[in-house]
Amino acid sequence: MPKPGQYIPDSTEGITRVEDLPKPKIIKRSRNYKRRPCPQCGRSAYRLRTVKRTLHDLGDTISGRPRDLLIRYSQHRCIRCNVYFNADMDDLALPKCHYTLHVVAMAMRLVIEDGLPYRAASWHLWRDHRVFVPFATIQNWVEAGEKKS
Ligand SMILES: [Zn+2]
Repeated sequence: MPKPGQYIPDSTEGITRVEDLPKPKIIKRSRNYKRRPCPQCGRSAYRLRTVKRTLHDLGDTISGRPRDLLIRYSQHRCIRCNVYFNADMDDLALPKCHYTLHVVAMAMRLVIEDGLPYRAASWHLWRDHRVFVPFATIQNWVEAGEKKS
């Protein structure tokens, strides 16, 4: 048992091969619907197909494993407006982002509240939350937020 005040490095420190890192836990989620209202006209639009998307979430710090959400979601087409759209999942992640909103919010807090440089924030996210985010990705998020405000 570790004693109080004893320094124990992260179990993954020194690992150089990606395949030696702990494997992610896969959590399945569904946003798969037969019909969804069209975002333009509000009419019910049928499902065209079902596709998959992987989102990296904050990991499981007890087991030390990353956590990935595997989302099956429907794509729809409104015949009247001829628009294609996806089932809504804005509660999970921004469009085209590979990380959940939880990860983005945590990264922003590390940089803006705690003043961590991007590389340190990237290491912190891996060490304490078991999610690997390249530092350049964190930088993009912070700069996008600065542009908006
Ligand atoms: Zn429509």
